Amino acid sequence: MTKKILILPGDGIGPEIVAEAVKVLEILRARGLDISIEQALVGGSAYDKYGKPLPDETLALARNADAVLLGAVGGPRWDNLEPGLRPEKALLGLRYELKLFSNLRPAILYPQLANASTLKPEVVAGLNIMIVRELTGGIYFGEPRGVRQLENGEKQGYNTLVYSESEIERIARSAFEIARLRQRRLCSVDKANVLEATRLWREVVTRVSQEYKDVELSHMYVDNAAMQLVRAPKQFDVMVTTNMFGDILSDAAAMLTGSIGMLPSASLDANNKGMYEPIHGSAPDIAGQGVANPLATILSVAMMMRYTLAEPEIADQIETAVDQVLTQGLRTADIYAGEGKKVTTAQMGDAVAKMLQ
Ligand code: NAD
Repeated sequence: MTKKILILPGDGIGPEIVAEAVKVLEILRARGLDISIEQALVGGSAYDKYGKPLPDETLALARNADAVLLGAVGGPRWDNLEPGLRPEKALLGLRYELKLFSNLRPAILYPQLANASTLKPEVVAGLNIMIVRELTGGIYFGEPRGVRQLENGEKQGYNTLVYSESEIERIARSAFEIARLRQRRLCSVDKANVLEATRLWREVVTRVSQEYKDVELSHMYVDNAAMQLVRAPKQFDVMVTTNMFGDILSDAAAMLTGSIGMLPSASLDANNKGMYEPIHGSAPDIAGQGVANPLATILSVAMMMRYTLAEPEIADQIETAVDQVLTQGLRTADIYAGEGKKVTTAQMGDAVAKMLQ
């Protein structure tokens, strides 16, 4: 059956980088992949036309699609809008409405770019970690929350870290399934020595592991995990953790690679329907100049092939094509370190597309 892909270019460099990913999708379609491609507005560009960052029409198309490819949203033009109308609100709305509870953030460092990292090349060259972050629960959503006035007149801020067994179970399953597609090693990160909610987390992950005896499960406290990520990151295959811990650890892991323009991400629901996007923002400082790196967006298409379309071979081909253009020495400005050939956004996209043809 035809798989429906919805393209949401967004703002800033979004339309430029997404155009290159669409070139890749069009080639896959020409090669026989059964997909349909539609586009819609999101973020600031949607606000300009419809007065809201996530128009009903866009949401309806997203609900109806099998996969969504998003560029990036936001920019200084919309920074002074009230919070509910800001472009970034569209992302939260899409995640919430589509029930995307499993956020996959790979940190991959192509050996060709090892010098871009702030860590020693031997520590990070060839790094390939997948962080699975719970995205719709935990302390970011827990109730009660707020700022209250105490009897002594002092203010007190409070939030609630809450996870139910079913929430932990589904993110654990998602992570075990992903580990099965990789090296079958899963590290669950918690703070079970201090937080009851994550003690339950550890208990439930351990229980779910009985269904995945082919995957090696380990547990690590989050403080140690942060340390190990900068000390010896290659020890990890897949990590699974709570919303807040995942937010922090996945940014740290991304920065190990030193190249924000290279990292894709996916957010999946219980049926592997997904939204795919680069981890970077709309980069207003370079928008419209044709210099943005489209590889994170192209690699997001590879993730889409692996997780939603169940086409692992095509995913491998896209990743290999990216590897090959890097080996040829092609570099957009953000990954250019004096060697190789500096190329534009479109030249980089064309080079990957040509490899796939
Ligand atoms: P950013 O990721 O947009 O940019 C940070 C730096 O990285 C900039 O110097 C930028 O030029 C560079 N950069 C980012 N992507 C690049 C690419 N593909 N190629 C080359 N260089 C790249 O983060 P920011 O500047 O903090 O945020 C800018 C806007 O993006 C803000 O409005 C923010 O809210 C929004 N934002 C959106 C998302 C999203 O849509 N998922 C994520 C983060 C930030």
